[in-house]
Amino acid sequence: MAVGPDVVTEALADIHRRLGSLDGGEPASYIPELARADPGGFGLALVSMDGHRYAAGDAQEPFTLQSVSKPFVYALALSELGLDEVSRWVGAEPSGEAFNAISLEDGTGRPSNAMINAGAIATTALVPGAGADERFERILDRLSAFAGRRLDVDEAVYASEAATGDRNRALAYLMRGAGSLACDPLAATDLYFRQCAVRATTADLAVMAATLGNGGVNPVTGRRAVSEAVAVQVLSVMATCGMYDASGEWLLRVGLPAKSGVSGGLIAVSPARFGAACWSPPLDGAGNPVRGTAALRELSERFGLHLMLSPAPAAPTIVGEPPLDAAPRAGAFAVVAAQGALDFTAAERVLFELEAGSGGPVLLDLGLVTRLDAVAEAMITATLARLAARGRRVAVVGDALPERPDAPWERFGSRAAARADRTADAGAGKPGGGAGGAQPYGD
Ligand code: GLN
Repeated sequence: MAVGPDVVTEALADIHRRLGSLDGGEPASYIPELARADPGGFGLALVSMDGHRYAAGDAQEPFTLQSVSKPFVYALALSELGLDEVSRWVGAEPSGEAFNAISLEDGTGRPSNAMINAGAIATTALVPGAGADERFERILDRLSAFAGRRLDVDEAVYASEAATGDRNRALAYLMRGAGSLACDPLAATDLYFRQCAVRATTADLAVMAATLGNGGVNPVTGRRAVSEAVAVQVLSVMATCGMYDASGEWLLRVGLPAKSGVSGGLIAVSPARFGAACWSPPLDGAGNPVRGTAALRELSERFGLHLMLSPAPAAPTIVGEPPLDAAPRAGAFAVVAAQGALDFTAAERVLFELEAGSGGPVLLDLGLVTRLDAVAEAMITATLARLAARGRRVAVVGDALPERPDAPWERFGSRAAARADRTADAGAGKPGGGAGGAQPYGD
């Protein structure tokens, strides 16, 4: 019997197969060149934080990014100028209006957010550079870093939008008049039309989405595209504004930060898990791809990706510990062992175990810890210091905690080395106690 592909690919292929017959919607035609798109084109792709790539359908077919470029250029502006400066020019509130709405704040003329056209043009206007070419190079470079390969421009689509994009120019002039556009309106819109005409495939889009979900590091190339702080800022605005006036409904039903574009592209990010992308040109009334919306909704439900679901930890963070109140050999260490990546949630488990127990010596084995974030490190360090201050002997295995000359804990190379240490036995007046006796815990 022939064995099919892996189960993730099989799931994508299944969604692709069933939604391929989903009708409704029309490809955008207000940019004439986009009306030539094949309405039957349909690609799906998924990329994990380990850079594992999965795809179904026309995932290698190129199309223009259009509005899917917006979060990435917002990321560029945030990287160059910081959130405070960018926020002087563009807000972070859902507009509740169409993508091309004249949605400008009363008084300041500031667009509501960077995911609608007005906000995206204002954001593009912030990209620094000596001239149009240098500024566009900077945009293309950053989009390419997110994709993990050099992207290019579909000149026909660019020319088509440049020839017909008067509404966007009008938006730019309105903003300039209100003092909310950082450069000449025609320069800003031309740069924006070029960024919208950058060409990529569904497979590329999934890598771009995964890079945002991976704290700004491209999981395929291993290279950083933006800082973690910027990735988080961009995802936040995508979550509330990425699907225009359908953003609330999208968050309710799909539960992932996302961004759609009028060429039929759609990305969704499951932070710390996956980047997903879809391409299918027919759009619904809100300008979002009909099949893409259905496909991402299915994917989210099938794989349990809704943001508001509390995820189970990938692996238990405490392993191999004996019960701390099990009364082992006097003076022996009770062991708490942690593994994997430790964040606030995992650290809380560890410190709860450390604080429990009978009050004897305690050994924290961090040998299998792959990552200790700053919050977890501070929590664990403070807990070890608290135990030491209460008079408990405290030791650590592994090098996850940085060396500190004043650290109130001892450090051992392994659990076995800690077990072999007889310092406490001597202190307890029981030299050799435990030798040959029952081992209170295994390796
Ligand atoms: N270039 C398009 C425009 O400005 C992008 C809009 C979109 O994808 N929603 O109209």
